Amino acid sequence: MTLRTTDDDTWREKYLDALDAHDALERQADEQYQRLRRALVQLSIIADGQDRQLDELLDELRKTLRGDQALERLPELTDRLDQSVRSFENRKESADAEVLDALTALVKQLQSLGPPRELKRELNHYLNRLPMRSQKFSLFPALLQQLAELQQQALTLTREAKPGLLGRLRGERAAEPGSSESLCDEINQVLEGLMNAVNTEYMGPETLEGMMVRLKQGIPLDQLPGFLEEVRDLIMHSWLAANRVFAGYLNSVNRELADIASLIDGAANHQASQRAAGRHFSEQMAERCDSLAGSVESARNLSDLKNQVASQLGQIRESLSQYQRAEADSEPLTDQLAQLASRVQQMEHEAEENRESLRRHQHKALHDPLTQLPNREAYDERLAHEVKRWERYGHPLALAVCDVDHFKRINDQFGHQAGDRVLKVISKAIRRRLREVDFFGRYGGEEFVILMPETRAQDALQVLDDVRGALADTAFNYRKEPLQITISLGISEFREGDTADEVFGRADQALYAAKAAGRNQCQIG
Ligand code: GH3
Ligand code: MG
Ligand code: MG
Repeated sequence: MTLRTTDDDTWREKYLDALDAHDALERQADEQYQRLRRALVQLSIIADGQDRQLDELLDELRKTLRGDQALERLPELTDRLDQSVRSFENRKESADAEVLDALTALVKQLQSLGPPRELKRELNHYLNRLPMRSQKFSLFPALLQQLAELQQQALTLTREAKPGLLGRLRGERAAEPGSSESLCDEINQVLEGLMNAVNTEYMGPETLEGMMVRLKQGIPLDQLPGFLEEVRDLIMHSWLAANRVFAGYLNSVNRELADIASLIDGAANHQASQRAAGRHFSEQMAERCDSLAGSVESARNLSDLKNQVASQLGQIRESLSQYQRAEADSEPLTDQLAQLASRVQQMEHEAEENRESLRRHQHKALHDPLTQLPNREAYDERLAHEVKRWERYGHPLALAVCDVDHFKRINDQFGHQAGDRVLKVISKAIRRRLREVDFFGRYGGEEFVILMPETRAQDALQVLDDVRGALADTAFNYRKEPLQITISLGISEFREGDTADEVFGRADQALYAAKAAGRNQCQIG
């Protein structure tokens, strides 16, 4: 059986190192959380009240990040942010399409007036470029301005034109001859379509409603260019508002992603600091967030930017789920530490048990159960040790054999148990009177052996005779009956060339002599 002390130390060191690392990482993760919270507060101030869906999402994000399950819930939130961007995109796309249709219809109306060739060419040119230009919401005001000018030209020309031309045109478009109202109605319808496409989400609806009322009442033909300019202003206002919100929204998404990335980065370090996968993931996230931030700053138009954000969100979500899969395969650091701690604890416990068991075994193996004195094996061991020392240094070494006088009688008179008790009591009494360095053991039965280092036989005799005398003078009682206990001792010392057996033999002979001489005495042999 071994105590595994070296292993214990190594594990303890590892454990302490791991605890240090764990503490540092916990601090780091905590800082990340604090940063994230601050960023979110700023973000919510910027985004507050602009978009209900976004507000709700941010609110949820804040709650989630305050909770314990931030990491688990982030992918789902990111998903919803993505969906939110998409629905924004869809709303805007359908609005774009309606605006394109309305503008096309307006131009076709003008074309149907049969304008002079030059104007016709300009209208064709305008119409051809419309699909491409109308994809860029930012160009709408300019497109409308251009259209208003073209319309102004067309109307001027129409007024100046011969009645035949207008009539011809009207004849194609309207049932009633001379009905400029008919043309106005059609233009008004187109304008209504156009205004329906205006996104009122980010502006007060009053302006639009007022214009709609006027439209319903009918815009006289000569007032149409002015009205068209109002529509242009309206759309520009709507576009600017939408643009502000959308850009703010994308910026907020970007900031959130950067924060999420830094949180996850911390968590990746925290939970997988040793793993290449964790590092790779962090790098990927940092890269994507950098590129996203770059996109927001450098994007020329919202459509590109929106696409980039959507694609970045997709990639980040994929990275997150990959990371979570990897994380599920490996144990978090805290679990590893807990396991490590419990393993170390278990090992310490086992080691202590081993030590205790060894102590018990050693004690048992080398001690006499009755008197608790060292036994014969312990004596052999100690003798070998003292003999070696004596051989090496030549210092004196005395050996004594001790035997209880007439012990048989004690047994016979008081019983074996009384005999046992006497053996225990005299063992203690003798042990107490010897030096710490002296060896005192039970040799067997009622016989004891004493080794006295640094002691000549004569000196041993003095000590042991005192012991013997003290014992003889002690008044023992067993069940209130007085009990006289004496011992006889034979003493010898190691002389040059002696073996341990020879010395023991001489001491035993001296004991025999002491017995023979009347007991309760010491003899040197
Ligand atoms: P003496 O040595 O003085 O010549 O007489 P003695 O009676 O001691 O001599 P002997 O060696 O013949 O008897 C020893 C007795 O000690 C025999 C045995 O029953 C008893 N004895 C030995 N070991 C134990 C023990 O552990 N407990 C008890 N109660 N008695 C023991
Ligand atoms: Mg005996
Ligand atoms: Mg005896």
